[in-house]
Amino acid sequence: MPASNLDDIISLAKRKGFIFQSSEIYGGLNGCYDYGPLGVELLNNIKQSWWKSMTYREDVEGIDASILMHPRVWDASGHTSQFSDPMIDNKTTKRRFRADNLIEEHIQKLRKKGKTAIADELEKKLDAVQNNSEYYDLIIGAEIKDEGSADWTDVKNFNLMFKTFIGPVEDSGAVVYLRPESAQGIFVNFKNVMESARQKVPFGIAQIGKAFRNEINTKNFVFRTREFEQMEMQYFVKPGEEMEAFEKWQETRLDWYRGLGIPSDRLRVKPHEKLAHYANRAADIEYNFPFGFGEIEGIHSRTDFDLSKHQEFSGKKLEYVDTVNKERYVPYVIETSGGVTRSLMAFLCEAYEKEQITDDKGREDQRAVLRLHYDLAPLKVAVFPLVNKEGMPEKARAIFNDIQKSYKAQYDHAGAIGKRYRRQDEVGTPYCVTIDGDTMESGTVTIRDRDTMAQETISADNIKQYIENQNSA
Ligand code: ATP
Repeated sequence: MPASNLDDIISLAKRKGFIFQSSEIYGGLNGCYDYGPLGVELLNNIKQSWWKSMTYREDVEGIDASILMHPRVWDASGHTSQFSDPMIDNKTTKRRFRADNLIEEHIQKLRKKGKTAIADELEKKLDAVQNNSEYYDLIIGAEIKDEGSADWTDVKNFNLMFKTFIGPVEDSGAVVYLRPESAQGIFVNFKNVMESARQKVPFGIAQIGKAFRNEINTKNFVFRTREFEQMEMQYFVKPGEEMEAFEKWQETRLDWYRGLGIPSDRLRVKPHEKLAHYANRAADIEYNFPFGFGEIEGIHSRTDFDLSKHQEFSGKKLEYVDTVNKERYVPYVIETSGGVTRSLMAFLCEAYEKEQITDDKGREDQRAVLRLHYDLAPLKVAVFPLVNKEGMPEKARAIFNDIQKSYKAQYDHAGAIGKRYRRQDEVGTPYCVTIDGDTMESGTVTIRDRDTMAQETISADNIKQYIENQNSA
């Protein structure tokens, strides 16, 4: 059973060094987090797995664009005028909310109370909302309150981009933005990449990088933060071929999550009823978090909106010239846009399990175990000397030193073996290797599997081979 309570994940993340509040010793900075020793390994493993699956193929190139971009980029993309969320204030409680999230949370509360029909009806109305006054009407109509108060202001737009200045002069001509998505860095490099990599449509450009949004409310741990990381790919196709590509990429992206241990019934695809002005089809891939289904990735068919706009605003041609069929066009785009940090939270929630076990001595015990996919596990192996004498620590150190040339590993000699196993189980280490009397005599070690807890005796010389055999695709 995956985590049913987000508090278990938050507590584990802090205790074990996955995620800390940013600037914690100063009281923290809202919506910002730091990734600790195990968190950064997990982040890197997620990114590496994505990078491999998305760019180790002939038709997708990678890039790493800068976070700060020319301000006209955001005029062309529509972000300066339209990248806003609907905001509403409660005049009595003095609290501010994102109007659509406020209604969504109310719907979840209704569902918890078993009021399914009312929840369904409200959800339908929410999906069809066209403007801010309709959000307001829904909030009033559904009698949504904050701490008992329905003293709401009108709904207004709040632009989510962080503004700063480039260079030494802080005037309006020097305004730049921290990018709110990594996609625009891909669009403006469309020509550069296509020509330098000698690509032909259809092809894609992929990028992993930080994005910043001044979210009205941050909540649910790292689900919604103000600084986060995205892994995005824009796939350029001939107009008319976008629907086929959309379906292909949606399936490819679902396969990635499934391949890393999230079963199909914990994922769902939610098509957008209300499409953004640039899209002719869109869907969210959602994961069943402890607080309900939430988006982890968006798949968008963005037509030629972005390239056409950049063409118009920059005055530079962003067409594709098909010399074989003698035609030229601005390609259509399928975007896969996933959150690194959001998917990290999904992987943690899915992997977390508390289970009753019988220990080596036949006693009932409980363990918390992170059943992370091997590729994602922050530590791959832990090495223990059974006792801290009889040459075992020295032997164990020698084995550990050799292993850590190939794997992120940990040496642990403190406490009973059972305790050391529990420590590794809780952070998802797939293998524990124990050096005992037999190692000293016959060169064998015990290797224990995190999930089955089964122990095998193998030659100390074969540890790497054993791990590789077990995890080769
Ligand atoms: P939401 O509706 O939840 O605000 P969105 O539809 O605006 O999200 P996209 O712009 O499609 O999100 O962003 C693509 C992905 O980037 C999301 O699926 C999510 O994984 C990630 N993401 C977006 N905003 C945040 C955030 N504030 N914190 C963490 N991850 C985010």
